[in-house]
Amino acid sequence: MSFDYDLFVIGGGSGGVRAARLTAEDGFRVGLAEEYRMGGTCVIRGCVPKKLMVYASEYSSHFEDAAGYGWRLGKIAFDWDAFRAARDAEIDRLEGLYRANLARAGVEIFDARARLIDPHTVEVGGRKVTAKHILVATGGVPFVPEFPGSEHVITSNEVFHLPELPKRMLVVGGGYIACEFASIFNGLGVHVTQFYRGAQILRGFDDELRGHLAEEMQRRGVDLHVGTDVEFVRRQENGSLFVKSADGREWSFDVILYATGRRPNTAGLGLEAAGVETGRFGEIRVDDYGRSSVPSVFAVGDVTNRVNLTPVAIREAVAFVETVFRGNPTPADHELVPTAVFTQPELGTVGKTEEEARDERPVEVYLSAFRPMRNILAGRKERMLMKMIVCSETRQVMGVHLAGPAAAEMIQLAGVALGMGATKEDFDRTIAVHPTAAEELVLMKKPVRSW
Ligand code: FAD
Ligand code: NDP
Repeated sequence: MSFDYDLFVIGGGSGGVRAARLTAEDGFRVGLAEEYRMGGTCVIRGCVPKKLMVYASEYSSHFEDAAGYGWRLGKIAFDWDAFRAARDAEIDRLEGLYRANLARAGVEIFDARARLIDPHTVEVGGRKVTAKHILVATGGVPFVPEFPGSEHVITSNEVFHLPELPKRMLVVGGGYIACEFASIFNGLGVHVTQFYRGAQILRGFDDELRGHLAEEMQRRGVDLHVGTDVEFVRRQENGSLFVKSADGREWSFDVILYATGRRPNTAGLGLEAAGVETGRFGEIRVDDYGRSSVPSVFAVGDVTNRVNLTPVAIREAVAFVETVFRGNPTPADHELVPTAVFTQPELGTVGKTEEEARDERPVEVYLSAFRPMRNILAGRKERMLMKMIVCSETRQVMGVHLAGPAAAEMIQLAGVALGMGATKEDFDRTIAVHPTAAEELVLMKKPVRSW
């Protein structure tokens, strides 16, 4: 049977774009459908615009710290419109690059929504096209629970388009997005309140790191309330939003951001028609190679709801191309994924948390909490936290957890060491780079506790 394409990709985000480009560069006929903007969540309304907002928001603390170093600044002000214009121009530039790279590789782009008709047929922009293989890379969408007044809240999709900076903002959730945006808007001068339903933010991260971050975010001004949820929201006559929280308190905000997780984007995709099995949240069930219950249909990235990070979606895409088009069956590796939370202070983490590690092995915990040198003259009380979990039998480092300036940059390299199976003695043997905060990673001499 002959097909229009060797590969048809649905979704032009991190995973889809990489798979389409590599396959086309290998000489195969590739089509790709994108219904919104090329680059997907990461480039258009995720990692990239978010990180630019992190950079913008960090200047307020830099200006504060500058005084301790002798700088005398005049009146400072933040121009939201100017920043938005600069950020959006950069996103447009990146989107153009993605599009140009796909076209250069020979990918046929459909600026339209696509859906599956059967295991080899896709309907896209009113046309039916056939493909030997179909890759679903449609990502995820924000999830907002149902409650009275939920129509008044925004999600991370809308947060990038706020016409003006609010004065008072409520952020609901305790995950990556909630904590990052609470920090961003706090840094931009907004009065931020954060509600999280559980006992401590960032469930799943190392407990000590979570506690440290919560304290430092509060010290910087985020009004964090754990064990708290929204009961209802009502729009008031003056335009502000009235909130009743589950503990009976009453609040008023200009903007409410819900960051209560994301769901796989599979609604209306024709998966049932094609016989593709999905899980409880609509995620496409795949094997280690990204193959769904239908042999010609594969899926990568957030739509599979495994580890929902850009570099992981890209790795899965590369593994898919190796497996299907290069005759080199390659499972995507989800072990040891370094990750960062771009809060203020920022977190970097790789490997097992103390809680996970001690359930598996006898472990030693090394810990250092200190004021980084740059905070001393600045008069900033904020501490840096560094933590290393070591298996006391093999001496292998099982986890590294960092909170403080440049934690995200440091954790990338700690990830290399852990991937190579580094032992505590390998770290100890490494000569410190002085004076840095990172040197503490090779100077932690005695465990603070053992399990
Ligand atoms: P996506 O990038 O979501 O791409 C899916 C694409 O498919 C979209 O462009 C969508 O329009 C398109 N599409 C969907 N359905 C159809 C259809 N039927 N037809 C045609 N097109 C369709 N990860 C990190 O690693 N670091 C970060 O700092 C980070 N920050 C984030 C911040 C935010 C606010 C958010 C929301 C996410 C962040 N992430 C971050 C996660 C990261 O963005 C995702 O893991 C990544 O984008 C997943 O890539 P993907 O290819 O699976 O899907
Ligand atoms: P997360 O899964 O990280 O967090 C969701 C939060 O919402 C949790 O605190 C969860 O609480 C809470 N929640 C869930 N349902 C409800 C509810 N019904 N009512 C109240 N609270 C609720 O999702 P995010 O939306 O923050 O981010 C999605 C994913 O995107 C992340 O998991 C990550 O993979 C990726 N991402 C990565 C970033 C990075 O790499 N820096 C940045 C941003 C996103 P509980 O813990 O109690 O379940």
